[in-house]
Amino acid sequence: PAVIVAIDGPSGTGKSSTSKAVAAQLGLSYLDTGAQYRAITWWMVNNGIDIADPSAIAAVAGKPEIVSGTDPAAPTITVDGTDVSGPIRTQEVTSKVSAVSAVPEVRTRITELQRSLAASAQNGIVVEGRDIGTTVLPDADLKIFLTASPEARAARRSGELKGADLHSTREALIKRDVADSNRKTSPLAKADDAVEVDTTDLTLKQVIECVVTLVEE
Ligand code: C5P
Repeated sequence: PAVIVAIDGPSGTGKSSTSKAVAAQLGLSYLDTGAQYRAITWWMVNNGIDIADPSAIAAVAGKPEIVSGTDPAAPTITVDGTDVSGPIRTQEVTSKVSAVSAVPEVRTRITELQRSLAASAQNGIVVEGRDIGTTVLPDADLKIFLTASPEARAARRSGELKGADLHSTREALIKRDVADSNRKTSPLAKADDAVEVDTTDLTLKQVIECVVTLVEE
C-alpha cells in the first residue's frame, strides 16, 4: 500500500534535504509544496500583480498552470510550461511568498494540486511543507514536525545562500516564520499526532535515519 509521509516545519530545519533523501531511500515520490507557493508567487510578480492587494491575488489565483515533477532525484517545477526552479529561489520571491500564500484562494488552488499528486503516487509520497499534517493530508501515515533553534536555522540558510549575511538572513527568516504562523488559513503548525524532531544538534544524516526508522516502524 502507498505510504504517505507529511514533513512540516519552519525554514532552515533541513526539511527539503531530509524529505528528498527519505523519499529516495524508500522509493517514494517527493513533493516540495514550498516550491509550488514560490512558483505562484513568481507568476504574480512576473505579471505585475500587486502583492499588497489580497483581492488582486485572489482574482488570478487560478490562472497559472503549475506542474511539479515528483522524482526525489530530480524534482522539477514549471509554470505554464516554463522551468522556474531557479527563479523561485530569488530574494524577491522569498520576501513575497508569505503574503501570496496567505490568500485563501491561493491555498485552495495549491492544496488541490497537492492532494491529487499524493493520490496518484504509486508507491507513496513524502510531502514537505507547513500545513501538510494539519490540513492537506490529515490522514497521512506518518507526520513529522521538524524544529531547530533560530540560530541553527539562520546558519543553515546563510550557508545555502553562499555569502549572505547571517544577521539579515536570521531577520528575514524569522519574519517569514511569524507571517506563516499567524495567517488565518492553514498556518504553520504541528499536528497533534505529529512526531516532533529537534534537529538543532543533529547532522542531516542523523535526521534522515530517524525519519526512515519512523516510516519503517
Ligand atoms: O519551504 P519554503 O521555504 O520554500 O516555502 C516558501 C513559503 O511558502 C513559506 O514561507 C510559506 O509562506 C509558503 N508555504 C506555505 N505552505 C506550505 C509550504 C510553503 O504557506 N505547505
